[in-house]
This record gives sequence, structure tokens and C-alpha cells, in this order.
Amino acid sequence: MKKQFAVIGLGRFGGSICKALSEQGMEVLAIDTNEDKVNQFASIATHAVVADTTDENTLKSLGIRNFDHVIVAIGDNIQSSILTTLMLVEQNVNHITVKAQNDYHEKVLHKIGAHKVVHPERDMGIRIAHNIVSKNVLDYLELSEEYSIVELEAGEAVDGRSLIDLDIRAKYGCNIMAIKRGEDINVSPAATEHLMKDDIIIVIGADKDITRMEQDLFDDD
Ligand code: ATP
Repeated sequence: MKKQFAVIGLGRFGGSICKALSEQGMEVLAIDTNEDKVNQFASIATHAVVADTTDENTLKSLGIRNFDHVIVAIGDNIQSSILTTLMLVEQNVNHITVKAQNDYHEKVLHKIGAHKVVHPERDMGIRIAHNIVSKNVLDYLELSEEYSIVELEAGEAVDGRSLIDLDIRAKYGCNIMAIKRGEDINVSPAATEHLMKDDIIIVIGADKDITRMEQDLFDDD
């Protein structure tokens, strides 16, 4: 059976989640207090309704507890976001993901029982900052305060060199998880694999080690 999602709040964030889930063939109920937004998503989502989710009876009449996953994408109105989340928790919704507007909001959402809290502006800001500091860092995923997964673009310094030769694990304590070359992805590459300029390397490791490796091997400036 298809998974059933409900997206509450059809701003840029909620709207793009709604669209992406629908494109992946999921059943999506799109909800907003704003009729124009709801009309905009009527042909994209499976169902689109005008509703205020801070009203307990409204949530009940939508049968919200039967959805597999509810995404709360109300950003600016923190009070509505918290109230909506609290009621979803009280109705025992299986998975609740909520967009946080700031660190304080995030803390409260965790406290009241949101299963997952996302902070897209902050996370995207961190990723873009890494990319601005080093143009070889294409993407960045923070795993914890110390560890990350980073996509690096190979330049002249590593062109034609094998992983044994570069000795990345011993010298830097990082692991190359995959090498992307055009459309091909080599997952868990062998030590004998050679890198080529423009390859994209996906590395996991401690931030300080990745930075050291990146400065030594991937920063062509
Ligand atoms: P984004 O940054 O994702 O573009 P936004 O700033 O455009 O968001 P927000 O004010 O964060 O919009 O809210 C997102 C949507 O949530 C809006 O379309 C708003 O009408 C809707 N919304 C706000 N409160 C409620 C509520 N209580 N019930 C349902 N929808 C709501």
C-alpha cells in the first residue's frame, strides 16, 4: 500500500516537500489556512484542504492519526507550529517531522515529542559556507559536531594517483566512501583505484582531518 503523507503549511519548504512526495508517487494531503496556496497544490497533491491545524477537532476530522508521516512546515508562526505538533503527538501520529525556525523553537519541538526536527535555512547556510570557503567542497553533511560527509572535487594534485599512493586513511584518518565519475559511481573503491581530475570524491571523517586532507590534496589554488 502507498505511504500516506500530510504536509501542513505550503510555503516554499512545505510546498517543495509536497511536490517531491507527489512526484515520487506518494499519497499526499496538502493543508494550509491560505486558500490560494491550497488551490495552487490542488492539482499536485492527492488532496488539498483549507484547514487550521491548531484546531484539535479539525485535525481529528482530517483523520490525521491514520497518516504514516506528517510534516509540519509552518515556519513564521512558531506558536501554531508548536500547537500543531503537540496535537499530532497527542494523537499518536507515527512520524512527525517539523521545520524549526530557530534553536529555541527546535528545542521546544524536541521536548514536546516531535520525532524529527529539521532546520533547512541553518543547514543550508552551513553547507554553502563550506562551499564558499573552499570551492572544492561541493557538498557537506554534518553527522555530529565533529564528523561529516563531504563531497570534494578532484583537481590536478590528485590526477592519476591511486588511493594507495595517496594513503588517505593512514595519513588523514578519513575514508573514501565513493568516487563519482560522470554518471558512474564506484562505491567502496579498491585501494588500487586511480583518481582523475574532475572526479567527485565522497569522504567520511572528522572535520579537522577532512580539512587537513582537503588543504593538502584538493585545494589547487
Ligand atoms: P517558507 O519559508 O517555507 O517559504 P513561509 O515564510 O512562506 O515559509 P510560513 O509563514 O513559514 O510561510 O508558513 C508556511 C505556510 O503555513 C503558510 O502558507 C501559512 O499559511 C501556513 N500556515 C500557518 N499557520 C497555519 C495553521 N495553523 N494551519 C495550517 N497552515 C498554516
